[in-house]
Amino acid sequence: MMDVEIRSFTFGPVGANMYVLLFGKQALVIDPCCPWGNTGLSDDVRVTSVLCTHGHFDHISEADDIVPRFLCPLYISSEDSPMLSDASLNHSMHFGMMVRVDSPYKVLDKKVYSNEELGITDSGRFNMQVVPTPGHTSGSVCYYFNFIGNAKQYMFTGDMLFRRSIGRTDLGGSELDMTRSIELLKTMNDDIVCFPGHGSETILGEEKHRNPYF
Ligand SMILES: [Zn+2]
Repeated sequence: MMDVEIRSFTFGPVGANMYVLLFGKQALVIDPCCPWGNTGLSDDVRVTSVLCTHGHFDHISEADDIVPRFLCPLYISSEDSPMLSDASLNHSMHFGMMVRVDSPYKVLDKKVYSNEELGITDSGRFNMQVVPTPGHTSGSVCYYFNFIGNAKQYMFTGDMLFRRSIGRTDLGGSELDMTRSIELLKTMNDDIVCFPGHGSETILGEEKHRNPYF
C-alpha cells in the first residue's frame, strides 16, 4: 500500500522548488532550498535523507539548515559534489551571493535505492532509481520513484526538465549531454508524473508531445 504525500515549497530569489515526501512521520527532502521552519510541517516529522538533483546554489541553499537538524545523510552526485562548498562552482557568486554547504555529504550511487536504504521504514514501500541526466550540470540526476502496490510513478527532474522547457546548459553544463538526456527521457514511461526544480508539475507523455525541446 502506498502512503506518500508530496508537498512542494518554492523559495529563494529564483524560486526553486523543494519537495518533501511525507511517509507518516518520516520524510525525504529533494533539493533543500527552503528553511525547515518555513514548511509549517509538524515538529514530529523526521527527515531521513536529503537528496540533491544537482549542485546549483538555488537548490542546495538550505542544506545546512535541514541536514544538521535531523543528522541525516545528504546525497549528491560525485560530479556535482564540489559545488556544495564552492560559491563559484555553484554559481551563487555569479548572482551576487555566497552560498556554501558545510554539512557532510554522501556520493550518490547510480543505482536503485530501497525505501529502507533511505531511512523510510514506517510506511510506503518503494524503489528509487537514480537516473543520470547530465546537461544542465555534469552531475544532474533525476529521482524516479516506483511505489510497490501502486501504479503511480513519480520523477523529480531538477533543472533537467521543466513543464514545456528544459534547463539552461551555460552554467556548467553541456548541450550534447542535454540532448542525450532528453533521448533517455523519451524512452521512459508516458505516465510518469514529473516534479521539476522550477515551475509546476507535468506528465512525461505530455512533454514528449508538447515540449519544443523534445
Ligand atoms: Zn540549476
